[in-house]
Amino acid sequence: MRKTILGLGLLLANTQISQAQKADIDRKFDQKESVSHFTYLASDELMGRDPARPEIKLAYTFIADQLKKYGAMPVPGADGYYQNIPFRLSSPPSKGQISLGDSVFTQGKSLLVLDGKSIAGDFELIEVGYGMESDYEGKDVTGKVVVTNIGAPNRMTPADLFSLGREKVALAKAKGAIALIEMYNIPSIPWQLIVNNLNRPQMGVDQGASSDLPYVWIKDLTNETKNKVATGKVTKATFAIEGKNNRSIEGKNVLAWVEGTDPELKNEFVLLSAHYDHVGVGRPDAEGDSIFNGARDNAVGTTAVLNAARYFATNPPKRSVLFALWTAEEKGLLGSGYFANNPLIPLNQIVFNLNIDNAGYNDTSIITVIGLGRTTGDHLISEAVAEYGIKATADPAPEQGLFDRSDNVNFARKGIPAPSFTLGFTAFDDEIAKYYHQAADEVESFDMGYAAIYWKSYILSAQKIANTLEKPFWISGDKYEGVGKTLYGIQ
Ligand SMILES: [Zn+2]
Repeated sequence: MRKTILGLGLLLANTQISQAQKADIDRKFDQKESVSHFTYLASDELMGRDPARPEIKLAYTFIADQLKKYGAMPVPGADGYYQNIPFRLSSPPSKGQISLGDSVFTQGKSLLVLDGKSIAGDFELIEVGYGMESDYEGKDVTGKVVVTNIGAPNRMTPADLFSLGREKVALAKAKGAIALIEMYNIPSIPWQLIVNNLNRPQMGVDQGASSDLPYVWIKDLTNETKNKVATGKVTKATFAIEGKNNRSIEGKNVLAWVEGTDPELKNEFVLLSAHYDHVGVGRPDAEGDSIFNGARDNAVGTTAVLNAARYFATNPPKRSVLFALWTAEEKGLLGSGYFANNPLIPLNQIVFNLNIDNAGYNDTSIITVIGLGRTTGDHLISEAVAEYGIKATADPAPEQGLFDRSDNVNFARKGIPAPSFTLGFTAFDDEIAKYYHQAADEVESFDMGYAAIYWKSYILSAQKIANTLEKPFWISGDKYEGVGKTLYGIQ
């Protein structure tokens, strides 16, 4: 009985603290400034925030200026508020053709040259499984063209294909190969869709010397061509790839931090992140609009992280908070991936990543949290959202694999609990498709009352996680639990 009364007392006390926290956030929140930031980030002036376009500078200087103004500090080891990233923009060849036996593959039809320098001549082929380290065992690939299956077993999402491709290029180069052909055989992702997306300049992190290795995809849905190479029926390839144009571009992640107030917990960080880039300028829509403003994706999220920085800089929680606005998410999660591989704060000190990425929304009575229920901190997000009279719901379309398709996955893969706090959606319906990666994704069509709830409940969620005494972790059995234990040294 005593225990129950005590428990009830604690519950009431917690509720009161939560309400007081909410009241404080509500009082200090600046809706006018938030809408102004949101509007600027999604304005035509920024030309769709394409990291390959010069206007991206307007975006990252604006973000850095706000962080500085709010009093969030530069992260040691960064270039002021920036983490600089060496990108490389690789154009499609002016002419691209590869012959394997009597099959001829042509750029934009059955061939995509993704990176590397121009190359012409006859070369010996060697089949190397998936092109992973173990596949090279007992094989001498020196001076040869390596032919592999695309992706890797159980790693076939688009993000996997790109990140694995880069690893394979580096490995093939290190093994002495002169080119890498990946055979594309995934019927669930139509080849034509791939062509539409990739037969144009491609951005990647500059890998130094290995970036020059010619790297191509060939359409081979039935594995026919790969089998011919594997069985020795085809042993040589004739390459005619001309007019490759590769250009260096400096990318910028924008970073800042606020020190926690607790003498112990301040050594731990909660990472609040969103990508600030978008897809730039594209084909004009029916109204003649060609600027993809990316209000939902992800100016609203960028504004959310700025709002959090504004609040926490003067109201620091127990744990330290790291703010990160990633670049080049739309180019394959590049900015977040670069930080995860070159962290300026040791990853084992980052206890949680509350990321933001958005396609759109179709239900303003909810906040959708991609990955909700997979970490022991998630109930705090649900509680924070409930304070605003709406509900946090889990990913309505887990089969889409959204959790593994945005920046958060670069941290989840390292073991850090990393859900994404997104606008409410109950399905990938027309309301989402109307705006997702469309020129119509503008601020004018956004419900600003809902935006306010979204922004404020994000701050409250982050605050609860940054203050909780229990360190959040993956729930037992999650696919990232193992890497998490390794990262944090949990037995
Ligand atoms: Zn996005």
